[in-house]
Amino acid sequence: MELVSDETDESVCEIQEVDFGSVPVDTVVEKSVWIENTSNEPLSYRVALIYVINTVDQVFNLSVTSARVKPRESVEVLARFKPKVPGQSYTDYYMVDDTAGNTYRFTVFGKSIGPDVTLSEKKLTFKICKNVLEQRKAVVNIINRSAMETTYQWLLPLSGQGYFQISTGNCGLIRAYETIKTTVLFKATALGVYTAELALLVLHQPPRFLNMIATIILPGNPMFTMANHVFGKNIKRKNQFVHLMENSLNRLTYIPSASVFNKYLDFGVGSVSDVSRNISQTLCVTNHEEENGYIQWIPDPDNIFLIDPIESIIPAKESRLFTVRFRPKLEVEVYGYLMCGDFSYERYEKDSEEVQIKHTWFRIPCIGNTWSHCTEWATEWECPSEVILPPTVPNRTTYGNFMLSNKLETAMHFKFEAPIGTNYVVVPMCGVVQGRGWQIISVAMEPKTLGNFYETWDLKLNKHHKAYIQLTGNAESSELELMSHGYNPDTQAVYEFPPTITGCTNYATAYFHNVTRMSIHVRILNSVPWLGADDCGSIVIPPKQILCYHWWFFPKEVNKVYQTTITCSCVVLINGRPIAEPKEIFIQITGFSELPDLRVLPKLNNFHDIVVNERVSRTITIYNYCSCFFTSKLYYTLNGMDDDWSGDRMEIDSEINSLKPSNHCEVKLTVTPDGAGPRQVDISYTVLYRNEFDQIEEIQPITKTICIVWYDGIYPSIKVKRTISVKCPVILSNHCVWNITNVDEFNKALMDCRPNVPLAVNLHAPDLCVRPGEVELIFVIGCVYDVPVAWSLRREKICDCAMIEVQKGISTYEWRHNCVHRSLVELTPSNGIVSTGNPALLHLKFNYTYEGLNTLCYVLTLPNQRSLYLYIHVFANVISKGILTPLRRPAVDTNDYLAVLECGKVPINNLDPVIRIIWFYNPTEVFTTWRLLRGNTTSQDSVIKCLLYFAEVPPLGKLAIPFAFMPTEMVDYEATFSCSFGYDTVKILVKGQGGLPNCVETRLDIPLYVEKVIRAAYRKEVIYLSLEHRTIPIMPTHSLTRDTLAICNDTDHIIRFIWLPERIANIVNVVMTPCWGVIQPKSCEWITMTVYTLQEPATFTTTVACELLDLTERRRYQQNEMLRKNKTEKCNQEFIITEEGYFRPGINDEPPYVLDIEKPQPFYLSLTISISSKGQRDGYPRMLLKQQWEQTPPYDLLTSELHDYYQRGSSGNSMTTLDIIRIIDGILWDALHSKMFKNQIQYYAKEDIPTCSHLITAIESKAKSNLSRRVTSGICDAIVNKAIYHVYNLNPKHEISIFEAE
Ligand SMILES: [Zn+2]
Repeated sequence: MELVSDETDESVCEIQEVDFGSVPVDTVVEKSVWIENTSNEPLSYRVALIYVINTVDQVFNLSVTSARVKPRESVEVLARFKPKVPGQSYTDYYMVDDTAGNTYRFTVFGKSIGPDVTLSEKKLTFKICKNVLEQRKAVVNIINRSAMETTYQWLLPLSGQGYFQISTGNCGLIRAYETIKTTVLFKATALGVYTAELALLVLHQPPRFLNMIATIILPGNPMFTMANHVFGKNIKRKNQFVHLMENSLNRLTYIPSASVFNKYLDFGVGSVSDVSRNISQTLCVTNHEEENGYIQWIPDPDNIFLIDPIESIIPAKESRLFTVRFRPKLEVEVYGYLMCGDFSYERYEKDSEEVQIKHTWFRIPCIGNTWSHCTEWATEWECPSEVILPPTVPNRTTYGNFMLSNKLETAMHFKFEAPIGTNYVVVPMCGVVQGRGWQIISVAMEPKTLGNFYETWDLKLNKHHKAYIQLTGNAESSELELMSHGYNPDTQAVYEFPPTITGCTNYATAYFHNVTRMSIHVRILNSVPWLGADDCGSIVIPPKQILCYHWWFFPKEVNKVYQTTITCSCVVLINGRPIAEPKEIFIQITGFSELPDLRVLPKLNNFHDIVVNERVSRTITIYNYCSCFFTSKLYYTLNGMDDDWSGDRMEIDSEINSLKPSNHCEVKLTVTPDGAGPRQVDISYTVLYRNEFDQIEEIQPITKTICIVWYDGIYPSIKVKRTISVKCPVILSNHCVWNITNVDEFNKALMDCRPNVPLAVNLHAPDLCVRPGEVELIFVIGCVYDVPVAWSLRREKICDCAMIEVQKGISTYEWRHNCVHRSLVELTPSNGIVSTGNPALLHLKFNYTYEGLNTLCYVLTLPNQRSLYLYIHVFANVISKGILTPLRRPAVDTNDYLAVLECGKVPINNLDPVIRIIWFYNPTEVFTTWRLLRGNTTSQDSVIKCLLYFAEVPPLGKLAIPFAFMPTEMVDYEATFSCSFGYDTVKILVKGQGGLPNCVETRLDIPLYVEKVIRAAYRKEVIYLSLEHRTIPIMPTHSLTRDTLAICNDTDHIIRFIWLPERIANIVNVVMTPCWGVIQPKSCEWITMTVYTLQEPATFTTTVACELLDLTERRRYQQNEMLRKNKTEKCNQEFIITEEGYFRPGINDEPPYVLDIEKPQPFYLSLTISISSKGQRDGYPRMLLKQQWEQTPPYDLLTSELHDYYQRGSSGNSMTTLDIIRIIDGILWDALHSKMFKNQIQYYAKEDIPTCSHLITAIESKAKSNLSRRVTSGICDAIVNKAIYHVYNLNPKHEISIFEAE
């Protein structure tokens, strides 16, 4: 995972590191690195040192060949390391570039190590008690603990220091880990206390000191305490060099006990014979203590250099002069002597209450010779030309040493000559190196200021030879260079964090460059909690190294600019100890944090329907709206309804995105539902970041949803959307078919069935009597979703009949379930694919052959392994038995009740009861008498009352039983009514609920909306109504509403239609105008439907039926019948006698033939009307009659035939004007005597239009051509309609076709 990497690319090329490790001082180590020429041309290389700051230490050397390097060959970069100062660490940065412009960077590291030589003892004591104890010998070991060999040298006169002598010679080579045993001899005899301090010089390391104290006493004398002799050095405080050079240094940080001047004595050329030619020199010793001091010089045993006085008391803060005389004994000789003096003083220590004697040693080298002036001395020596001292700070002394060796057998005289104003001190300044011997020279520097100090000293050897030694050292302060992000005059550096998400961790990189030769200890002083630093803010940077350092940012507050100034306290380290004053660097650090703001486009996504187990992808764009670069991780929560959604999968590709501010990226969301139902996926995110330990952490989920995805898991489903009654003896509207066959349950099962869980559904054929011929219904099946659905049906045999043998081929037979039940139900087709624009028609054909209930099972198979068991029940009654069947089956199939009427919610305290109607039909071909037995007996003002006590239902007729419902309380009501027809007594359950006044009343029977494409499914080559259902707005009682519809004839036949009037006594009257007519082929007829509400307010659904007769077919039949009649008559008159006998000719012996045509039977179309009328007294606003009449009928805009109608013009109404006039005349007379039309007639009279004469005039005049159905709608339609029935005394129940339209 790539996290937070918007830092500028610091390293264009990789940095190679060359680490030499620890290397002994003054040795050379080499390492090679190879660079390959990857280009296609020869290249030259060169090396450059970058970051040249300090030129004192040139310990590394990188070299590369100057020759051109061929392609694919490698060039060697040779790195050489030669440390000159022990105990240092070195870093340098180099760059190698080639002529092609490639650069290679090298970081070279190395450390130097020096020897580690110590003495086993620091103090030796000798105790001699005359004639009792003679302890004059002590052993001390020189131990080398390091892996490098070195040389050592005791700094003392050849004859030993005072009375102490070293047995093993005063110099030598000590090998790695070697131990050299040395014996110290004490040779004094006089009584007294003897002290000495021996210095062991070791090349490349500090000197070691050995203190000695010896006593010689007589027996019986009290023992001298030797413990109170203290040799004045404080190792903890000072380098051991200080002790050696204490007397030579000019600017000590402390005042020594005493000091001597001169530091060395050069007596020049002396004379053995002429004493006057020997110079005398003086030494001045100053006592810096508050006590009296005592100095004792150790006399030269050879008596060459004589000091006078040999001992003296020096009072406090005073000086004394001593004279040194040179008395050579031999001609042509060189003399050197290390004059040692022991200055001591007594000091009363308050702590221990003892007197301590403190010793300070002076070592004054004295040289002189007795050379003649013209003598040339052969001289051969070896010493380095450059001496580099370890780094230091101003006013701190630094030390080093080197070796001057004499290559000849003869002794060599040397003397250093310092330049004026030197910063260096050399000890010893002069002396004599024995033949083949050497002298370790110690060098110290006292820098007064910062800077590099280069001095060239003269070294005079044997008077005439001169050499130069360059002394190099530098003094530095704690100097750190920082690369800054910005500029602020008040601080040395400015760093700025990248904008960071609050709660995350971020960092800024700083590069600390230690430009000194010393390690620097850096401490970060910080007072704010939001800032952190690597290594807890305490680091040591090795010399010259560039350190990559991180500031850490822990913002916790939102939208805050963080700013602070921190202090970097730097101090240089020498030998791991802080030296000199710390230096402070002020650094300003700023940062900013805010909350993450990740936005998504689009924010709301609806994937709509997704078939279960199908993947649907959508791409969204996520956008970093905040100013921080951050990494987000998207995650989602899924919720839903219906089926279990835990199996639904959402894939986010990719869920982890690192975005810079104002950047965006695309993320693909893929959804795979595992079950059906609506789902909501909320997408949120968390922020990922790397913490200071390089671990990836996550900020706790942000509860805010940034994106919502909706989808619906679906199973491809079908649904019955419309039913059609094609052939049925009972006039059933599609709505009735829907209710009778139980489509709701079927549809519910189609939606509810799930993979591998078959459901069982009951479908009912309309109950009818045993009868010949089929009953055909159609289910129009459409898609529920916009997904095509393949389905198939097969019969599952559930009866007990045996299988029968069926011959398939000449000799192949097969057992089949071809039992007698098979023919009772026929479903076609048996399979198909339903898509959105292509609904399927499922034809259901029923045979009522067997009495009683017969059930067949079909298995309907749907995609996703879903199946339904359809149990199709066909109930055939006995013909002779009177029976009633409800048009709506009880939702719960109970045997207790014949029908259940749900009255719904009705406002309480209505003045008028609401009437609901329960519909029955008589499936038999005999009259049935219905009688209310029980139910209304409870009280006069019962809430639910049946309004019909007795009715006779014709064969295949329908019966409306009204129930009045007037609730008084807001509770549920329920009443059971018993009734009888024929011989059966059955119960009817009526339910209802009281509601608030003006509560929304549910009109329970309104069918669902059916899409146009579904409605059009069965409109080819048939006659159909443009409307199958009309829900009429709530009307007051005694009012009317009008509507239009069309009968459409899509066949090539001429069709006659007659509307069967629909009236329910006292409740409603539905009149269709024109009530009869003829429709030409491929045309349609407009019908105005007028609904009159009568005095009883009621809410119910009823059916209006139209009888259709195919006149073309009937003419054909009649012509055929006429032909048959004529030919029969003709045949009856003719006879033929042949040899076979006498016979009459057949009617079809010669053309024209008489066909066997059945008499065409009328068939029916019907529509349902949902009516709701309210009582006049319950506050329902009464509409003025004028307003009612002014209302234009709403056109059914879904019937596209509207335009066709006007284009084709009027058709078919064959009534003559005379007929109309006659009818209207009669009607008006009739109407004036009718209570129902009285108001309307009065209204007309008042408005003066149209009186009878007006009408007649209008019809007969020029307006005649405009007298279409539209003009005659309204009152005229109603009047005409009514008149037709009255004048001609029509009875719609009798299907006698009086109208011979042709
Ligand atoms: Zn059977």
